[in-house]
Amino acid sequence: MTHTPPEFVTGLQCLVCGHLYPYGNVLTCPGCGIQGILDVQYDYNAIAARLNAARLKSRSFDHWRYLELLPVSPGLSFPHLHVGWTPVYDVPCLARNLGIAKLYLKDEGRNPTNSFKDRASSIGVLKAIEFGFDTVACASTGNAASSLAGLSAAVGLKSFIFVPDRAPEPKITQLLIFGATVLKVHGTYEQAFDLCRQACEEFGWYNRNSGTNPFLVEGKKTAGLEIAEQFGKNMPDWVVVSVGDGCTIGGIGKGLQEMKRLGFIDRVPRLLGVQAEGARPIVDAFHTNKDLMPTSTNTLADSIAVGTPRNWRRAIQQIRLSHGEMIAVSDDEILDAMRMTARLGGVFGEPAGVAGVAGLKKAVAQGIVRSNESAVVVITGNGLKDIQSAKQASGQPISVEPELTALKNAIKR
Ligand SMILES: *Cc1c(COP(=O)(O)O)cnc(C)c1O
Ligand SMILES: [Zn+2]
Repeated sequence: MTHTPPEFVTGLQCLVCGHLYPYGNVLTCPGCGIQGILDVQYDYNAIAARLNAARLKSRSFDHWRYLELLPVSPGLSFPHLHVGWTPVYDVPCLARNLGIAKLYLKDEGRNPTNSFKDRASSIGVLKAIEFGFDTVACASTGNAASSLAGLSAAVGLKSFIFVPDRAPEPKITQLLIFGATVLKVHGTYEQAFDLCRQACEEFGWYNRNSGTNPFLVEGKKTAGLEIAEQFGKNMPDWVVVSVGDGCTIGGIGKGLQEMKRLGFIDRVPRLLGVQAEGARPIVDAFHTNKDLMPTSTNTLADSIAVGTPRNWRRAIQQIRLSHGEMIAVSDDEILDAMRMTARLGGVFGEPAGVAGVAGLKKAVAQGIVRSNESAVVVITGNGLKDIQSAKQASGQPISVEPELTALKNAIKR
């Protein structure tokens, strides 16, 4: 079966050498190898004639409403799971705690497998079907995998998942319940990543690794498109995103730029990229203006524990384009942010999910973000995905005998 190419895609451009390739099942630039991440190009003039506020009004409230801006072939049916159009909450108590004028949380934990990654996986499974694959694979610290497993189950694809040794138990359980074949690789995320790439070549599976697959970042982009539509002319000064491989912030930046180009917003907010101190190669490359140096990793924020990020160029490009900044936070600051986001904002995020809140707090304290400014933090994953870390932040329940005097004493203490 052959499918018509996506209507508005004009080609794929290498982020390193700038070469433009025709649309097709290519992963990275043949000339530049694994470093040569490709960026999907569109005919924005043609899109502008089709996509406007009036048209959007009548569309479904999920991320397929931006179809013209997605690399999706006409005629493919979308997975039935609801992806995108996640809520944005105004959280004044948390804003006060952080010391800024206005703060919003965009809760990506509301996606079908409870993380931001569903935006990418929903595109990934459609690309696999379009290109004629019946099996998909990915290497992941957890969320990309559980998301791919869930979306594959929804559309009837088989999935093989490579996870590193220390992926949190709840995420592995998600994989298994969705019927994925799970391979726990005795090694780092980087080793799992390489093994997955080799396996895809060997067995003819579709590789969902978002670091290198050009189409997946287009799914991540939809959060940027949504932020633009949800805030419109009242765009906050900053959009804060936690950073591992760099695809999420790079995608969100691209989405915001596109919405400015299409006239939905008149300015692109500044991007604040946040890494963990124990995995900060992109922060360092950003501040030294040098090529990225891979590092070892040591952080409880497993979803951003990436020592060899694949999409760092895209991340840095977009952050600079927005006149943004990057900052690193400690695990203690992340645990504190986990408590504060839950207690003052009512949103329970996993460590990488709330790292943005920790980064924003630090950026306010350092004067990078001013106290009269506003920000939206993308809470990238739900807190129940990593109970082990959540327990470190939450403390213990109070034990009590089943009678009132004991209760009174217990509460007093
Ligand atoms: C994957 C992930 C990130 C980081 O996204 P990258 O594209 O790797 O930068 C942040 N938070 C959560 C919860 C994630 O799963
Ligand atoms: Zn190239």
